[in-house]
Amino acid sequence: MPDFIADLRDIKFALIEQAGIEKLFKTEKHKELDRGTVESILDEAYKFAREVLAPINAVGDADGAKFDKATGKVTLPKGFKEAFGLYRENGWLGFSASTEWGGQGMPYALQIAANDLFFGACLAFCLEALLTTGAAHLVETFGNDELKKIFLEKMYTGVWAGTMCLTEPGAGSDVGACRTKAKKEGDHYAIEGEKIFISYGEQDLTPNICHAVLARIEGAPEGTKGLSLFLVPKVRVKADGSLGEPNDVVCSGIEHKMGIHASPTCALVFGGNGKCHGYLLGEEHKGMRAMFQMMNEARIDVGLQGAALANAAYQLALAFARERKQGKNLVTGKDATILEHPDVRHMLMWQKAIAEGCRALLLRTAIFEDLANTSASEEDRNRYNGLVEILTPICKAYASDQGFRSAELSLQTMGGYGYLKEYGVEQYLRDNKIASIYEGTNGIQALDLMGRKLPAKGGADFKSLITLMSELTQKYAKHPTLGPEVGILAQARDVLVDVSMFFAAEGAKKPLLPVLNATVYLDLFGQVVVGWLLIEQATLAMPRLDAILKAKGVSLTDAAALQKLCDADADAKFYAGKVKVAQFYARRALTQCAAKAAVLKAGDQSALEVAL
Ligand SMILES: Cc1cc2nc3c(=O)[nH]c(=O)nc-3n(C[C@H](O)[C@H](O)[C@H](O)COP(=O)(O)OP(=O)(O)OC[C@H]3O[C@@H](n4cnc5c(N)ncnc54)[C@H](O)[C@@H]3O)c2cc1C
Repeated sequence: MPDFIADLRDIKFALIEQAGIEKLFKTEKHKELDRGTVESILDEAYKFAREVLAPINAVGDADGAKFDKATGKVTLPKGFKEAFGLYRENGWLGFSASTEWGGQGMPYALQIAANDLFFGACLAFCLEALLTTGAAHLVETFGNDELKKIFLEKMYTGVWAGTMCLTEPGAGSDVGACRTKAKKEGDHYAIEGEKIFISYGEQDLTPNICHAVLARIEGAPEGTKGLSLFLVPKVRVKADGSLGEPNDVVCSGIEHKMGIHASPTCALVFGGNGKCHGYLLGEEHKGMRAMFQMMNEARIDVGLQGAALANAAYQLALAFARERKQGKNLVTGKDATILEHPDVRHMLMWQKAIAEGCRALLLRTAIFEDLANTSASEEDRNRYNGLVEILTPICKAYASDQGFRSAELSLQTMGGYGYLKEYGVEQYLRDNKIASIYEGTNGIQALDLMGRKLPAKGGADFKSLITLMSELTQKYAKHPTLGPEVGILAQARDVLVDVSMFFAAEGAKKPLLPVLNATVYLDLFGQVVVGWLLIEQATLAMPRLDAILKAKGVSLTDAAALQKLCDADADAKFYAGKVKVAQFYARRALTQCAAKAAVLKAGDQSALEVAL
């Protein structure tokens, strides 16, 4: 298998220079941090990703998690247990969790940057850590003091693991159709029901698994309004924190699936023998609202999965294209590597744009989340919170959809070799597909964006996002190099505003029109946001590039001289790459926005009219 390669420099650039993690160093919470520490942490994360996680990726895929029907036990592939031990010992689990409960208290954005490396190295492994910290955070926010004391530190330090249990055979996207029951019994609730598709619902990494379970208390209303959230341990815990008897949670099987083979996707039976105890998190019937905390966090992580695997696949394809010789160079007539062929370059440029643009989106959203938690003024906190809200469905759906397509282009770039297991890229493609499905399918994300996030607070969150874009377009409208691309961005932004207003007005008259078009609308929205961030990166890169070009006497439009300079100078290569990819995306993606808007506004409803 080829080595895992990540563009650490791009991660640092997007996190430090673009997203501006240094703003957090001025806050009380992160005043101990500095740029050097952030960079060293990322260096360590890359080392860990390469040395510990990447080596178990292919074996995890080949061997997969195993289920023993006789005992109900699940065994993870070779090396996973050891890797999990090292992951915990190194403090990566609970990395951004509160220090009060055993976490490291690091910025969320730094966690996302480290996860970019970890997901790219072995996604199936990382899901366990994600679910554990997400479930623990539910306990921290909604648990009573006793639950916090018993569970929290053990979960944030990975002694015990966590899961999220929503899905049932009849309740997929429609979570409100949940049938799992809860009945009050003294200090706990008796839980009874079946959950399916539960990632890491059973495993052999930790002696206890703390399930966050949605269930309906007897007599509660139908739908999501009647759901409550419970913490249901696999093994009961005694008052002194030691493990007691099993809690009647049984794994009845695991799924055989397209990718993430090492992540066990489990069917769980709760209370098959009437002995399953659950503990209420938050208030009765307010479980869905509570669970949204975990779902929203997970949605950003799932978008990152799309971006991280796209980045990893792009790096493999790029390395391959530099080596693989086929055909002749069209200009020189000499033997060529496939990197010299225009069509291959075009494919690689799309991959670079999507991979780096989606990474920038995820890191910027993560910084907004940190600022929402640490800003001094309430007004700022609300504004940042609103930006996270509106960007969450874009992160989840745009990065996972486009990440998958970008990984598909990586496979295409490698030709027949891409299709072979030993070249690694087909695993990235298979593993990536799930990101558009779980945590609310991308169709559901589009409905969330159109129906909830866009009109929220009278459109205030949408407006603050548009304001950020406008600040960039105003500042750089007359930029000598990037002015035309900034102009294209301004047009695309106006198109987005126009279409959004169209749906706001038309939706009242024709309610199915926005619903029918929500996915295309999200795609347009994501395209504009990613275009904004790529152009912003180019504006940051330009002064550095200008300085190098001036010193070397090279012009940006002299392709041959630029190539020669970039071959010899890594800084020139990096910054010129940023400028070129922004120009590419503006000219080839942002220019599509007007056509997409025309399609959306044409009001076609044939899909609703056809007999299928
Ligand atoms: C590998 C894997 C791991 C998973 N891990 C977990 C986990 O840890 N915990 C957990 O609880 N679940 C988990 N899931 C379940 C996952 O979240 C669901 O599969 C997902 O929510 C979709 O539900 P569904 O499969 O029932 O599809 P359905 O809901 O049947 O959807 C099928 C299609 O119909 C569309 N659709 C459905 N309803 C609507 C609607 N109202 N409007 C528009 N379109 C709609 C969907 O977008 C989709 O395209 C996992 C699934 C897999 C495959």
